[in-house]
Amino acid sequence: MHEILNKKGFICDMDGVIYHGNEILPGVKDFVNWLIENDKKFIFLTNSPERTPHELSMKLERMGLEVSAEHFYTSAMATAEFLSAQNPDCTAYVIGEAALTKAMYDKKIYMNDINPDYVVLGETRTYNFEKLEKAIDLVRKGAKLIGANPDTVGVTEKGIMPATGALISPIEISTGKKAYFVGKPNPLIIRHALNQINLHSADIAFIGDRMDTDIIAGIESNIDTVLVLTGVTAKEDIQNFPYKPKYVVNGVGDLLK
Ligand SMILES: [Mg+2]
Repeated sequence: MHEILNKKGFICDMDGVIYHGNEILPGVKDFVNWLIENDKKFIFLTNSPERTPHELSMKLERMGLEVSAEHFYTSAMATAEFLSAQNPDCTAYVIGEAALTKAMYDKKIYMNDINPDYVVLGETRTYNFEKLEKAIDLVRKGAKLIGANPDTVGVTEKGIMPATGALISPIEISTGKKAYFVGKPNPLIIRHALNQINLHSADIAFIGDRMDTDIIAGIESNIDTVLVLTGVTAKEDIQNFPYKPKYVVNGVGDLLK
């Protein structure tokens, strides 16, 4: 555990690590205070493209945690960085929440529903037939199809909602084109977060609750991984995967014990 606490930086998944829905998990407050008091660099990373860093900061504030906006990194931001690196003057047709569109504008990617370079999709409740029809038409005309994250479902207070992977599949089926997904398990999002934290990968640990998205993305980014058991993975699940996390703890609070 000493080795982990000596890291200069931490990248943490959010849901299942920091909170569950709208509830903060035990030990998180102490862990965040420890990060701040010890001058650790840290990023809270989420595959959800639905909120801006500022909105995520406000969400944590409602749970009693003071974390400023520069500590968040989302799949919307990673998608915009990916597109601007691929094609700096590109345009996009976006189906998603305002946070996804804003991330695009921040990278000077402008909206275009006539002949965009990309059709970009992220979780949204504004999905409808007209947008789907438009997206299919644009992809058939040559726009490339990009998903902010590959998750097929998200968990809400009411139960399950379809996420990007599910919402994008009608476009894939109708056009015969496969989308490229930017969020975890694609290690690209971790590498972009590493750029934001500006430390060498050996100085960082990645903390997550899922083997098939978090831990694999950390391993493929060649950074030390910590699995917490406060989310979707139980200890006995670990053996079902052909890779393993470097450390396993019950929750982030246990890192300080
Ligand atoms: Mg999680």
